[in-house]
Amino acid sequence: MSNSKTIIVSNRLPLQISIEDDKLEVSASVGGLATGMKSVHTEGNGIWVGWTGITDEDLNPKLRDTVNKRVKQEKCVAVNLTEQDIEDYYLGFSNKTLWPLFHYFMEYTAFETKEWNAYVEVNQKFANAVLEQLNDGDTVWVHDYQLLLVPEMIKAKKPYTTIGFFLHIPFPSYEIFRTFPWRSEVLEGMLGADLIGFHTYDYERHFLSSIKRILRLEVNFNEISYHNRIIKVDSFPMGIDYQKFWNAALKHNSDHEEKSDLQRRLDEHIDPEHNKKLILSIDRMDYTKGIPNRLRAFEYFLNAYPQYKEHVRLVMLAVPSRSNVPQYIKLKRETDELVGRINGQFATVSWTPIWYFYRSLPFSDLIDLYTSADVALITPVRDGMNLVAKEYVATRTNTDGVLILSEMAGAAKEMNEALLINPNSYDDFANTLKRALEMPEAEQKTRMKFLQKRLKRYDVEKWAKEFLSALRATRELQEVIV
Ligand code: UDP
Repeated sequence: MSNSKTIIVSNRLPLQISIEDDKLEVSASVGGLATGMKSVHTEGNGIWVGWTGITDEDLNPKLRDTVNKRVKQEKCVAVNLTEQDIEDYYLGFSNKTLWPLFHYFMEYTAFETKEWNAYVEVNQKFANAVLEQLNDGDTVWVHDYQLLLVPEMIKAKKPYTTIGFFLHIPFPSYEIFRTFPWRSEVLEGMLGADLIGFHTYDYERHFLSSIKRILRLEVNFNEISYHNRIIKVDSFPMGIDYQKFWNAALKHNSDHEEKSDLQRRLDEHIDPEHNKKLILSIDRMDYTKGIPNRLRAFEYFLNAYPQYKEHVRLVMLAVPSRSNVPQYIKLKRETDELVGRINGQFATVSWTPIWYFYRSLPFSDLIDLYTSADVALITPVRDGMNLVAKEYVATRTNTDGVLILSEMAGAAKEMNEALLINPNSYDDFANTLKRALEMPEAEQKTRMKFLQKRLKRYDVEKWAKEFLSALRATRELQEVIV
């Protein structure tokens, strides 16, 4: 058993790889999943299986060999995908079918058989890459909606492998999921796992309801009986690297070195004496994040409470995402137009209500934004978790600041001390924003301290450890039953 290892599987490897003039550049990703899985990955013989981000067409045989060798040094194994695979499996089925459907955007959901076939084929490529690495006693942890079929594909070949699956997006209610043409195949794919994890209890409930009603399986609390196995379903809300954000904010607040240009510009607006406040939103440019809704609601707020004109500024960072999918192009256009219209309508010589950035920013700039914002306005119309809400809280080292959070974000389930709103109600939005701007400091601090305590205790490393120990317990239970 001592030689057994954990194999992590996700669509993308935790590496940033680029090729310039046949020269390879590799660096580690800093995303939430990469951070959370770091100790699991580096422990013992752990390996990570996933796509490099470079399609086969961009690699000649020699270069491919170099990439594979380099990736291996990082304890990773590359799954080779073609441009067509990415077109149909990733941009197609994953992002035009599963993503909108699972986020309740039925009108955006395409059901294309060709893309489904590609999804099956590519999932099999991932499963094969895992099977090549797999020895008896190994544990496999599969991540997210791009790989829903992989657990069963592994279990079919190696039934005694311990397999965990975690879904990072919502699992929709039965009434939505039942419309999906490949509903049984996807559920059966997931049931190859011994433990299936979700961010919240609601997603877990929705999944179990589909299992009962679509596959007609016996479900006992959170256990499913299937092919002489007991499969456990549970919720594990993903945390962040709390200490990293906290320490960066502490350093930022105590650093007497030169301020960044961004910080200087932000400071120009911050003026508590004259009740001037900054409101911050950060999201990927995705229709699930409720960006147009937020802009319209902000306009409604400025009309409803005109005393805030010239006193508040919304700093909105939208990170480009999937910008070749038509709905994302439309969303970008709508956002640009709304920002232009609202700024045009309200701006004065000395004030622009919305500062809009369409780009991704380096970590130090994110810290400038988080630490400068009096209010964080996180209002997705649907979101599996939302880590930005948690990162804002982790940077408030003075324990002030107010988080306004949509009820539709998974994070709302564990962040009760935030001001929770229905992002579709302009009245709720405007009144809550007013309340946040006027909240006494003592109340801000009481709320923030509760939020911080919980996030600090259940950070992303703890999340990974808890999932893996629940997975081990599930396997032990199965061995007893056999
Ligand atoms: N983020 C980033 N660069 C930016 C803006 C945001 O890396 O310019 C990060 C942010 O710190 C957070 C992540 O992107 O960790 C967004 O995660 P979230 O769960 O909020 O949303 P998702 O994009 O996964 O739907």
